[in-house]
Amino acid sequence: QAKRDGRACFRVFNAALDARMRRRRRLEVDLRAALAAGTGLELAYQPLFATQGEQLVAFEALVRWQHPEMGYLQPADFLDVAEESGLIVPLGEWVLEEACTSLRATPDISLAVNLSPAELGSEQCVPRILAVLERTGFDPARLQLEVTEHTILDLRLAVERLRALRDAGIKIVLDDFGTGYSSLSHLQRLAIDKVKIDRSFVQDFLNFDESRAIVRAIARLGRSLGVSVTAEGVETEEQRTFLRRLGCEELQGFLLSRPLSTSDAIALLQCRSEQSASIGGLSAAPS
Ligand code: C2E
Ligand code: MG
Ligand code: MG
Ligand code: MG
Repeated sequence: QAKRDGRACFRVFNAALDARMRRRRRLEVDLRAALAAGTGLELAYQPLFATQGEQLVAFEALVRWQHPEMGYLQPADFLDVAEESGLIVPLGEWVLEEACTSLRATPDISLAVNLSPAELGSEQCVPRILAVLERTGFDPARLQLEVTEHTILDLRLAVERLRALRDAGIKIVLDDFGTGYSSLSHLQRLAIDKVKIDRSFVQDFLNFDESRAIVRAIARLGRSLGVSVTAEGVETEEQRTFLRRLGCEELQGFLLSRPLSTSDAIALLQCRSEQSASIGGLSAAPS
């Protein structure tokens, strides 16, 4: 009996593994096709707001995939397949080109784009990014590339490439800050403009003294190194108040805004600039 159970169990396990592998293979084939055809992939744009004054300062481009049968896929559903198959390189290039094209005509705000390990590791990483900027006419000074410590597989190469990007005027952001193993040494070796505190600390800090201490330490560290500090995953008013008090310069999270479609993002920009124009008009009026 036990033996029979064992065999049945193995069959179930095997079938599950098989289904997983088929799904991965399928995603890889379909993603390659989507990239070739230029259909199904989309970007969502999540705003970043200045903590003081609350103006819109940037949009972070986040990839989505409207799969013909599997539905609306999030990055977590397909990025690992993209990463392992190498498709992340053309996918990343598509994301950058699409975002630069959509936001080219909105000169007042920055654009943040995520860079994965395989992208930063690829030989042509720097010239490819610069070529997209060239093609789209997007101002490099408005581009922020978000890398995580997991992105940095080879520190020497990363230092070199990020420096080259920075020399071209691009800003470098250390994303998910605090979740890696060697944040402090990376911060010192890499030319970083900004750190983004990982949302796990932000979301824990009302319950855990340690998370609060970590967030406070990162904010202080940023200040003393002259690196600007952002927080992601802000979901509550209490979190916002705490982060503001610590001197975090920018905030991002569902409390402020969910990721938006391209048209909603551009509408938000327009309504913001009309607002600030009317405020400007008021203050310019004679008193
Ligand atoms: P990330 O760069 O840390 O992006 C933030 C993620 O947190 C986004 O998830 C966003 O929707 C989510 N988020 C934002 N505010 C909140 C909040 O208040 N609460 C919670 N619970 N979540 C919040 P998303 O879009 O699923 O992206 C997940 C990750 O996938 C990103 O993490 C990024 O590492 C990666 N990613 C997304 N788009 C791209 C891309 O085009 N290229 C590369 N290489 N990676 C990407
Ligand atoms: Mg990011
Ligand atoms: Mg992040
Ligand atoms: Mg994150």
